[in-house]
Amino acid sequence: MSQTAYRTHHATEVTKELIGSTVTLAGWVDRRRDHGGVAFIDLRDSTGLVQIVIYDEEVARPLRSEYVIQVEGEVRARPEGNENKHLATGAIEVVVDRLTVLSKADALPFQVSTALENESENRLPGEDVRLKYRYLDLRRPSMQRNLKLRSDMTRAARHALEDMDFTEVETPTFIKSTPEGARDFVVPARLVPGAWYALPQSPQLLKQLLMVGGVERYYQLARCYRDEDFRADRQPEFTQLDMEMSYVDQEDVMAMAEKVIAAIWKTQGIDVTLPLPRITWHDAMDKYGSDKPDLRFGNPLIELTDYFRDTPFRVFQSPYVGAVLFKGGAATPRRQFDAWQDWAKQRGAKGLAYVVFGENGELKGPVAKNLSPQERSGLKAAVGADEGDAVFFAAGSRESSQLLLGSVRVELARRAGLLHDDDFAFTWVVDFPLFKRTDDPDDDDVAVGHSSWTSMHHPFTMPSRDWMDRFDKDPEHAMSDSYDIVCNGEEMGGGSVRIHRDDIQDRVLNVLGIGPAEAQEKFGFLLEAFKYGAPPHAGIALGWDRTVSILAGASTIRDVIAFPKAGGGRDPLTGAPAPISDEQRAETGVDFDPDGDDA
Ligand code: ASP
Repeated sequence: MSQTAYRTHHATEVTKELIGSTVTLAGWVDRRRDHGGVAFIDLRDSTGLVQIVIYDEEVARPLRSEYVIQVEGEVRARPEGNENKHLATGAIEVVVDRLTVLSKADALPFQVSTALENESENRLPGEDVRLKYRYLDLRRPSMQRNLKLRSDMTRAARHALEDMDFTEVETPTFIKSTPEGARDFVVPARLVPGAWYALPQSPQLLKQLLMVGGVERYYQLARCYRDEDFRADRQPEFTQLDMEMSYVDQEDVMAMAEKVIAAIWKTQGIDVTLPLPRITWHDAMDKYGSDKPDLRFGNPLIELTDYFRDTPFRVFQSPYVGAVLFKGGAATPRRQFDAWQDWAKQRGAKGLAYVVFGENGELKGPVAKNLSPQERSGLKAAVGADEGDAVFFAAGSRESSQLLLGSVRVELARRAGLLHDDDFAFTWVVDFPLFKRTDDPDDDDVAVGHSSWTSMHHPFTMPSRDWMDRFDKDPEHAMSDSYDIVCNGEEMGGGSVRIHRDDIQDRVLNVLGIGPAEAQEKFGFLLEAFKYGAPPHAGIALGWDRTVSILAGASTIRDVIAFPKAGGGRDPLTGAPAPISDEQRAETGVDFDPDGDDA
């Protein structure tokens, strides 16, 4: 590491080889211990800690946690028995000759010291305080590690893409709306009163225009903005590693993205075996009750619709009945099964039916008595249970029941300690439907058009070849050429083959309830571009914050973003969003009324 005006070495560069030489160091006072007039201070910089020793009490007395100091001194071996094996610099210490306080620190709102890192994170204050003093929070080694990891991953992705002849192109932040299923953030245009820019929900349309513009392989670390309702692990602005290619099909894009993913994971010494596994969207829903299945463990859902075809039990007389096995669940106390009911209700379900397989083939649990004798006797075999197991059921519409069972499956695994952050189970999910219904209460996406159908991915996704002639006649079953990449039950990214012809694009927009005039108004520029020779193209984007958080083993994407927003999109550090002054209002023209009514 290079020498600068303030230091000859970084903390962790001071090793045994330097014993006897003089070094100059700069950094924070991490912790101090005083022993009989001698102060031992852990000096911390971005590389770690080194112990410095101050014999002069006058010099040491004023030093407090997080003072920024510069010291010059001689490196010596620590006296025998005082070595610290846990520290890179644990065999040496620096005896201070000269100390300069570069800046002082007030009493801290919370402890930054590295000592914390070894204890439970519980000693950290609430997240609002961490975010308000983010610059202190970032000093903690785990946050430093996350930022470094992110930077290493970014570099690896860039190298991998450059090796595959991709060109990095920046696209604008002030554009016209790009629909990705959320609300737009908008910015008033002072120079055109009454007109607004939209911030891109992604560079989707711009990267497609780059394909029309002859950039055959594009990528960008793009900032995206989506005004969505606040959910636990979402940010109103986030980063995507955005990629697009011309003259390719789905297989080309997937092979390319796999290479990027392997290169990223390699930065942490992890070899990802390629090609990655695949599952169709239908199978993912049927087997795992999720379009982003967690494949770190098995225990697939068991469909019992046929099994209960003639059931006397009203609840199971449904379009779908399914189950998930709870291995060893028979030992669960009744009140825990009651807690599962509450857990299910929080997810909008009516409850969670279950039976327990007791000794001697005895079936227990509230549902058991409602089943016919035949259903009772065959159930253990039908669900593959043993004595001592239990099974949870869901019945109702296929999709909502599967989603509930999918959540049960993951929750059971979580409680059984089967979810490890350092296991990485990737899968592609392929063969998605082209459209989904707009009236789905579980879906908070904003419909792009005005019909009862909206895009499953986005409106520029190509219908699959078999559906080309009839996707608009049967939107419910039409399939698309799109794909998601999933890791450990999280959607890392997704993409699709794009429509590159205006006639197909018109038909898709028509299903969405966007007529020709509105299409012209909203996407006229794209439809026009398609008239001048658009190459076939396809692409993908990885949610970069999510991808980093998965590899970092972080529990939230906020831990891998330097300055994230808190709940409700607030920034506790700067106080954004904040009111603007009357002058600003007038100047920006936010109150401009095109009809002049309120003039
Ligand atoms: N623009 C898409 C998204 O943001 C990704 C893609 O299709 O490339 O989800």
